[in-house]
Amino acid sequence: MTFIAPHYQKAKKDALISFFKKDRFLIKTPWWLKKLYPGCLWDMAAEAKTLYLTFDDGPHPAITPFVLEELKRYNAKATFFCIGDHVMKYPELYCRYIQEGHAVGNHTQNHINGWKTDDITYLKDVENAAVHIQSDLFRPPYGRITRQQIRKLCNGSVADRPLIIVMWNILAGDWVPDLSPEKCYQRMKSKITDGDIVVLHESEKAWDRMRYCLPRLLEYYSRLGYQFAKIG
Ligand SMILES: [Zn+2]
Repeated sequence: MTFIAPHYQKAKKDALISFFKKDRFLIKTPWWLKKLYPGCLWDMAAEAKTLYLTFDDGPHPAITPFVLEELKRYNAKATFFCIGDHVMKYPELYCRYIQEGHAVGNHTQNHINGWKTDDITYLKDVENAAVHIQSDLFRPPYGRITRQQIRKLCNGSVADRPLIIVMWNILAGDWVPDLSPEKCYQRMKSKITDGDIVVLHESEKAWDRMRYCLPRLLEYYSRLGYQFAKIG
């Protein structure tokens, strides 16, 4: 039996919290982070030559049409985690996701942080988004959600159905302003493996990097014989 001193455990936890507070990120999700949230979906079964592109924070009036056109060129399917408020503003773009064969998921009504929000407010926000987004899939904004919130979302007590919490395996960092588009692309390419769930953003903050990376990812992996599939 091993014994880990409580102060060591606390130091480990504090180090982890300060790491993520500084808006740093890990390109490839490590096993230990997946273990902290065992009920979540982090990657798909490593089906040969299949990747799962996901886009957060849409729909957006200028960015969404670009993404949909790029995906269409490669017959690629993707999963869009939408903000309820944006779906209310751009319902026609939300309909396009579905009409063009993609999957949609709930990303809360107002893009709130689960670590900074009490459970009742958080779950109500998810429920409000579920009125506009019909989906079994949920991704927490910033990936920040408590175990208690996960439990409630998974057991079906919110949004009339049990939700599957979808995290990711590859985080592009496309929202980081001082990351060059080329570096963002190369970092992703160096880490991607079969069955990975990749996160990109439909946001103005990410636009410079995302519009550079997406066409290149589609082209490069299509040439290697990969297909792009939606989750679910
Ligand atoms: Zn988001």
